[in-house]
Amino acid sequence: MPKIHEMTNERVAFRTCPLCEAGCGLAITVRDNEVTHIRGDMQDVFSKGFICPKGSTLKQLHYDPDRLRHPLIRRNGVHVKATWDEAWAAVDAGLNGVIQKYGREAIGTYLGNPGAHNLSSMTFNSVLLKSIGSRQRYSASTVDQIPKQVASGFLFGSASTVAVPDLDRTQYLLILGANPYASNGSLCTAPDFPGRLEALQARGGKIVVVDPRKSRTAQQADEWVAIRPGTDALLLAAIANTLAADGLEIMHQRLGPFLNGVDEVVQALKPFTPEAVAVTTGIDAQTIRRIARELREASSSAVYGRIGTTTTAFGTTASWLVDVVNIFTGNLDRVGGAMFPLPVAGSGNTRGAGGSGKGFRTGRGHSRVSKYPEALGEFPASAMAEEISTPGDGQVRAMVVVGGNPILSTPNGERLAKAFADLEFVLSVDIYLNETSKFADVILPAPSSLQRSHYDLALLTFAVRNVANYSEPVLPRAENEPDEWEILAKIAAIASGLGVDTPPSAIDSQTIKTLLENVSKDSSSNIFGRDCEELFNELSSSGRCGPDRILDLMLRIGPFGDGFGAVPDGITLDKLIASPHGIDFGALEPRLPNILRTQTGKIELAVPQLVDDLQRLEVLCASKIDSLQLSLVGRRDLRSNNSWLHNIEVLVKGKERCTLQMHPNDAVRLGITQGSKVRVSSRVGSVDAPVEITELIRSGVVSLPHGWGHSMQGTNTKVASARAGVNSNILTDEEVLDPLSGTSVLNGIPVDVACI
Ligand code: SF4
Repeated sequence: MPKIHEMTNERVAFRTCPLCEAGCGLAITVRDNEVTHIRGDMQDVFSKGFICPKGSTLKQLHYDPDRLRHPLIRRNGVHVKATWDEAWAAVDAGLNGVIQKYGREAIGTYLGNPGAHNLSSMTFNSVLLKSIGSRQRYSASTVDQIPKQVASGFLFGSASTVAVPDLDRTQYLLILGANPYASNGSLCTAPDFPGRLEALQARGGKIVVVDPRKSRTAQQADEWVAIRPGTDALLLAAIANTLAADGLEIMHQRLGPFLNGVDEVVQALKPFTPEAVAVTTGIDAQTIRRIARELREASSSAVYGRIGTTTTAFGTTASWLVDVVNIFTGNLDRVGGAMFPLPVAGSGNTRGAGGSGKGFRTGRGHSRVSKYPEALGEFPASAMAEEISTPGDGQVRAMVVVGGNPILSTPNGERLAKAFADLEFVLSVDIYLNETSKFADVILPAPSSLQRSHYDLALLTFAVRNVANYSEPVLPRAENEPDEWEILAKIAAIASGLGVDTPPSAIDSQTIKTLLENVSKDSSSNIFGRDCEELFNELSSSGRCGPDRILDLMLRIGPFGDGFGAVPDGITLDKLIASPHGIDFGALEPRLPNILRTQTGKIELAVPQLVDDLQRLEVLCASKIDSLQLSLVGRRDLRSNNSWLHNIEVLVKGKERCTLQMHPNDAVRLGITQGSKVRVSSRVGSVDAPVEITELIRSGVVSLPHGWGHSMQGTNTKVASARAGVNSNILTDEEVLDPLSGTSVLNGIPVDVACI
């Protein structure tokens, strides 16, 4: 007798959720190629059944009637449906028209955050950027995490070498500017982050949260420290100062042979005593000293800083000081401390001979108008508007936007919208007609995430366990509907001048052959000296192409890989596919000194750019506090994901979430009552929002969530437009940046609030 699922053509597909960094395993029930149900995959080796409210909405996202299924071309100011051939012809005319007229530097690119969760983007965005051949590169990184990567690059020699808290084994966790109960973690891949925190407390550990808001994470913590926004670097400097004053014997015992520059850093931190920073940070000296000693005396401890520390004027310096403290307590690269993942598909710190390298630098070029230094191959997103609007050689005349909505997610959105309106050509790869793609001459829709294969190439480099999890597409694509990598490869072919008829497969083959050639020349690689043609044929014999074939290569040459037969038990994509719930390669293990890629083969604690920045920090320390000046910070919400999940009814229904949170003391002083509408104004703009009076925020601080503001004409996201909210980035100032990384200051913006 047939089983029920055979009678109904029902199957369960397992895949990793691509919506946030946690990467939870999903079990997706599909009947007759229709998704009926999504739940957590109880057997997933990493998430063990956990999902958040967003995970199951991949179904609604797939079936969203506003999600684009056809290319759109703008004709006479209106977006109309087009065939793929028509769209490619328009891309060819638009991109090559600008290149012929002004040169390649006239094309800017912006890569959005979803690309970090997307195997196609992770493998083909670099191909696209190279084909366009312009230095005008921007991304969501400079409104997010890049300060941590710059600091890590300076310290360890590679920007992908980010130490993560060993969540499952630490006994003391100091969290600054992160709210994993809402975000589910960032630059620290840990499905069920909240459960892991609760387990930490259950085993007798302690969690301290430093945040101007008593976030959900702060409420669950053992202690909330209500810091003044933008001063985390000062607090960390004072903690490091205290540790140094108390003696660094443990550090020397555990890490001594790996360290360069300890004395310079200790000397440079001398002015930052707990007493010196107390007024500016709003934290008394006794509390700072106690936290420093708790960090040192705990059997293991880790400091973890996230967006509240990176999106400030001292983002890179604060990120550096997070690791200075981890080093001073002797807890870097130690079980229960801050550790380095060993990503199964490899990364910048698994390739090449370990122990030393070329080191890391920024400033290999400067932006045209404000001369901002390059960091990780890009310029600050804040510079985009001026690069588009300022006449002269190298002026940006066209933009290619891939999976991003910079009008909502980067500073001074109004100025950027005006700049986009003046561009000669805009190409958007996006699933929605949104606040940014509305300016596009051509919109190319990628398939939904359920129609793509998936592997978290980027995020597993920040995971608290070494795991690997591959997902095959759950649903088929429509006939003639290209995969996302094919879209990116085709744009690359057109931008390279290869012609509109060049198939994506030609770019794909060239890409993997180049990769093979490079790796086979690396004497530390497990395919050193091998015949590339033979390896190419072996990779292709499976019938795979595109990102899957590249992934197979990365897995096989990675630290657990089979080396094409050299390591018989090693991992291949076939083996990973045979394990639909993923493979667990174990807890993190110490990786020093092999992980280092600095020229000296040491951890470079006293990089001049960072030490010198302490002088700027001293100025902040001495600055006068205006007790009446309100300071704006952002906030995350469990049912939100930057700007792009607001068209899912189940995620936006309920009470208004785009509110201005304000402390009762400030509300009384300003005569503001609960729910009243106020005008929030900064140097660059103003927005009107309802007030939510709450004691869960420090007095003098107000908070607006980001990613809202869906009220612009010309978009087609009906659910989002009905609950538009306001764009907090109308208030962020594009002229205020972290100078070391070019990151926008999204937290600690001076604002005025008045009744309207
Ligand atoms: S926590 Fe993140 S990865 Fe997990 S289900 Fe939610 S959105 Fe998806």
